[in-house]
Amino acid sequence: MSTTSFTKKTLGLETTEPALTPPPAAPPVSSFNKKPKLAAKPKKREIPEGLWTKCPKCGTMVFDKELDENLKVCLQCEHHFPISARERIHSLVETCTFEEMDADMTSVDVLQFTGVASYTSKLQDYQRATGLKDAVITGICRMGPHRVALGVMDFSFLGGSMGSVVGEKLTRLIERATEKTLPLIIISTSGGARMYEGMFSLMQMAKTCAALAYHAQARLPYISVLTHPTTAGVMASYASVGDLIIAEPGAMIGFAGPRVIKDTTQAELPPGFQTAEFLLDHGLIDAIISRNQMKAQLIKYLDYLTGGQKAAAGL
Ligand SMILES: [Zn+2]
Repeated sequence: MSTTSFTKKTLGLETTEPALTPPPAAPPVSSFNKKPKLAAKPKKREIPEGLWTKCPKCGTMVFDKELDENLKVCLQCEHHFPISARERIHSLVETCTFEEMDADMTSVDVLQFTGVASYTSKLQDYQRATGLKDAVITGICRMGPHRVALGVMDFSFLGGSMGSVVGEKLTRLIERATEKTLPLIIISTSGGARMYEGMFSLMQMAKTCAALAYHAQARLPYISVLTHPTTAGVMASYASVGDLIIAEPGAMIGFAGPRVIKDTTQAELPPGFQTAEFLLDHGLIDAIISRNQMKAQLIKYLDYLTGGQKAAAGL
């Protein structure tokens, strides 16, 4: 047994040769095995992207400009596409009358929540992508002759989830409406409470409803408008306690999703379950109004609910 050779091997002193590997030999190029140059370039698209949208309900290709002009409602089948909060406000209020409240309020990551990404980075991403600070825009505006406190949610910001900012902004809006004796309209679209804020988001359900109770006590009208989709914590709080509850056609409205209910109850759900139409038939909502008719109808309701009063001067 040679101790010397053992030590040398262990230390790797024998491998003094450079471990060079020659580059793999290039395949021989010959004119015979050259591939034909057919189909090398992908065909140019004939329709530029972002000009047309396919309607998910009727399959029609709708020209985006026409869709925008028709408030994102399909011209063929009246399917209601998602619409941003800003566009919706623009479609409802009189020009230049919207005075936004708490525009810069942003969420704080109280729980230091980290899932696939941290809550802080998610908030920043969504703020950049949507141009919004959070999932609701609130303010005082004029609709027809009425001065109205208006809150509009936006599903594109974290699924319209209700965190402490959504709750606080809406509560301040409701309290302002009570203080100024104004009717209130909240247009909801939400996947529910924001899980990144845990208990703090659940607290918003009680907070908004408490403010609404004072608004109701002052005998002021509150119209809740449900748009696709309005579910979970939002539906279980301020969205379902309006003096009038109206919805857009085809909107999905409910608490838990149909699959969860089906799995829990082990029962077949009726057709159309959790749609606005189904809920109208069963008395949960008062009316279904197309987005194109929304402004005119809301003004009619306000005329009725405020006893035909015009907005008080100076408010
Ligand atoms: Zn359609």
